[in-house]
Amino acid sequence: MVMGTTLEVTVYRPEVQTLQALADLEAAHALIDAFDRSMSLYKPDSDIVALNARAGTGPVSVSDSFYDLLAASNYYAKLSDGAFDITVQPLVELWGFYRNTRQTLPPKDDVDTVLKRVSYKNVTLNEENKSIALKEGTALDLGGIAKGFAIDRAIDLLRSRGVAAALINLGGNVAVFGPAPNGEAWSVGVKHPREDRLIGRIRLSEGAVSTSGDYDRFFEVDGVRYNHLIDPRTGWPVPGLNAVTVVAPTATAADALSTAVFVLGAEAGLSMLEQCSGVYGLVIQPGQNSDNFIGTEAVFSVIVTPVPAENTSVSIDFTDEFSPAVQTASMGQARPVEDCIPLR
Ligand code: ADP
Ligand code: MG
Repeated sequence: MVMGTTLEVTVYRPEVQTLQALADLEAAHALIDAFDRSMSLYKPDSDIVALNARAGTGPVSVSDSFYDLLAASNYYAKLSDGAFDITVQPLVELWGFYRNTRQTLPPKDDVDTVLKRVSYKNVTLNEENKSIALKEGTALDLGGIAKGFAIDRAIDLLRSRGVAAALINLGGNVAVFGPAPNGEAWSVGVKHPREDRLIGRIRLSEGAVSTSGDYDRFFEVDGVRYNHLIDPRTGWPVPGLNAVTVVAPTATAADALSTAVFVLGAEAGLSMLEQCSGVYGLVIQPGQNSDNFIGTEAVFSVIVTPVPAENTSVSIDFTDEFSPAVQTASMGQARPVEDCIPLR
C-alpha cells in the first residue's frame, strides 16, 4: 500500500539477474514511497502540507521534481481551461472526501465561499529559482496527478537500472515499457464501472493508461451519487460520467487528462484529447433512456476516440457484450495538434 492504494511492480531481466530484479522492485517501491512522503496531504510533515501552510507568505523554494510536478499541473489546468485544477483542495475538504466524513450536502453558501479560493491562477511559478507562491487561502491537492508523476519517475529509474521490460500499476494508473514476456503488446483491462469484470482491453507496447471513475470514493444523498471529482468551476462533484480511461505517452499525462476529461464531460473532454498527439481515451456513461439499470442490469454507453490506422502500437478493443454499446467520437475539425507532454 502506497499513495493510498496498491502498488504492483513487475520487472523483466534475463534469468541470471534475479537478484538485480529483486533490487529493482525495492528501488521502485522506495522511490514511490518517497514521493508519497513528499506529496501526501495525510502526512503532517510532507512538502505539500508545508507549502499549503505558507500560502500568502510569498515564494517558497521547492525541489526540482516538486517544481516539475507543479509546472505540469499548471500546464494541464490551462489545457483543460481550468477543469483540471490542483487548487481544489478546500472543496475536497468541504465535501468530506479526505476522510469520507459526509453523508449530507454542504450548504450552498459554504460551497460558494470556498469556491472563491479555488483557481489555478492563484499559483505563481518561478522557473528560475524553482519557487512557488500561493495566494492567501489557496491550498493544493495533487491527488489527480501525483500517482502518474511518481510512476513516470519510477519508470525512468527502472530504465536507467537496465531493466528489459516493466509494468507499474498504482491503483489503476498503469505504465509499461519494453517487450511484454509473450512477445506481444501489453494488455491493460478496462473495468466495468459497477461489476467485477472487464468491458474491454487496451493493448500498447509502451506508455500509460489511467482511469478516473465515480466508483472509488463517493457518497449518496437521495439516490444521487456525489463522487470525489469536483468541478472547480461550480464547486460541485461532477455528475454525468461513470469513468474515463486515457492512454498517453506518459503516466503524468494519462493521470491528469483522465481527471480533466471526467470534469469536462464526454464531448469537450474527448475533443481535448484529440488535440494531443498519441493520446486516446474513452468515456463510460449511463446508457440512453436508462437510469443506469434495466431490472438489475446496469446499462452503459461508451464513446471512444479513434486510433488512426497508422498507429499500430495502440489498440482499444471491447468485449462482444459491450461492443454494441460503443460509439466512436467523431473527429472534430482539424486542429493544431499539441504534444501535451510538458515533461518526459
Ligand atoms: P484517483 O486518485 O482515484 O486515481 P483521479 O486521478 O481522477 O482519481 O484523482 C482524483 C483526485 O484528484 C481527487 O480525490 C482529488 O484529490 C483530486 N481532484 C478532484 N477534483 C479535481 C480536479 N477538478 N482537478 C484536479 N484534481 C482534482
Ligand atoms: Mg487523475
